Amino acid sequence: MSEKIFNDLNIFNKLVNDLINDDQEKGISAKIQTEDVLKKLDISLSEDGIDDETFKNSLKEIILNTPKTSSKLFFNQLFGGLNSKSVVGELLAVILNNSMATYKIAGPMVEVEKEILRKVASLIDYPKTFGGTFPTGGSMCNFMALIIARDKKIPEIRNNGKQQDLVCYSSQNSHYSMGKNASFAGIGRNNVRYIETNEKGEMCSESLQTAIKNDLNNKLIPFFVNATVGTTVMGATDPISEIANICNKDNIWLHIDGAFAGTVIFSKKYKHLAEGVQYSDSFCFNAHKTLGTPLSTSILLTKDEQDLYRSFSNKAEYLYQTDNNDYNLGQTSFECGRRNNALKFWTLWKSVGANGIGEMVETNYSLSDIARNYIRNNSDYKLYSYDDSLSVCFNYKDFDAIELCTQLYNNNKLMVGYGEHKGETFVRLVTINRENTKKDILSFFKILEDFSNKHL
Ligand SMILES: *Cc1c(COP(=O)(O)O)cnc(C)c1O
Repeated sequence: MSEKIFNDLNIFNKLVNDLINDDQEKGISAKIQTEDVLKKLDISLSEDGIDDETFKNSLKEIILNTPKTSSKLFFNQLFGGLNSKSVVGELLAVILNNSMATYKIAGPMVEVEKEILRKVASLIDYPKTFGGTFPTGGSMCNFMALIIARDKKIPEIRNNGKQQDLVCYSSQNSHYSMGKNASFAGIGRNNVRYIETNEKGEMCSESLQTAIKNDLNNKLIPFFVNATVGTTVMGATDPISEIANICNKDNIWLHIDGAFAGTVIFSKKYKHLAEGVQYSDSFCFNAHKTLGTPLSTSILLTKDEQDLYRSFSNKAEYLYQTDNNDYNLGQTSFECGRRNNALKFWTLWKSVGANGIGEMVETNYSLSDIARNYIRNNSDYKLYSYDDSLSVCFNYKDFDAIELCTQLYNNNKLMVGYGEHKGETFVRLVTINRENTKKDILSFFKILEDFSNKHL
């Protein structure tokens, strides 16, 4: 690496300092209207280069005006706050710049990834045959699981393409990647059966059973059920054990999408929310949501590594030249060049242990209890969500949730989104930033109340 890196890292350090100070002072970056971005910031690229000082200043303006997802006023997404040990791991992964495809290019980082997979497999009681990988996100985890299930059901599909009528199942409240993935996998969006949910947002297993029977009667081939631990809007969990029984009978792959709340497996107190996960064929979770590792840190496990291998291995003499397949992780991953997304999770885990991670998860849940209690004890509010969910959905007085969230954003007060379930639209406060405290949650409500009463 050229000596220049020292100079540029100095620039980086200064910028990070400015950014963190600004974050602590303001907590929010004032919204720039879309049509003004190019006018207000020096984003345009030119024929000629610029000196370092101008470079630094341009970059500074841009980063200070970028939404601050680590701030105490950001509740808009299922991620928020950054774990600093994890940031160290991520930055080192960038400087090392390996690719995880082979042992020859990744060296010990292969074991870093494998160690996490081993420990997670043991947390969910998967057998020794397990396999796993770090896909680029939860959507990609779900996609890979769908492909694996498809190829397991009808191995010839890999070479000949789909000729049979395959159908898969997911709840009405499941993540939108399901439909897209079915389309990419050649299954087709119309061959996803969206199973109804109860008032909590949990899949009705009887309806699932009925749908499968119907499809079997019509000579279709059910091959995949996606169950969710922590649905995106309501934070609900499908009845995994019941669903597993149904899948078992008809030899259907059961995938658990734990992208949102799957990290409960680390907590002794909340592990029961993923009860039945051991009966699944594949399971995924996002550490970048509840644990504050940088985007993205997604982990996919399969009960049998052979299933992963069947779908994702490929010959490539120019790539696989040394060591055996157990150490050439490209044989079980979607990507060829794949960034090291394991190190940032390893640095977190190494520093606080599995117990520390469990405590982070518990902090998130205790913040959601604080928010729900506040709402329950205040008659100006209506609560739509249930206990044991990191998603606290509510309406305040008669204020329209969409208008409220939009105006809070436009007026640089807070970033929070709205959601919909069973025909009701509400504000969705997600308590996934474990760096927040009771004070921050109460301050969220105070800001929201003051703003709505004064301005709406
Ligand atoms: C967030 C989420 C996903 C998608 O994960 P990405 O990493 O954003 O692709 C999938 N499923 C559920 C339930 C989610 O909440």
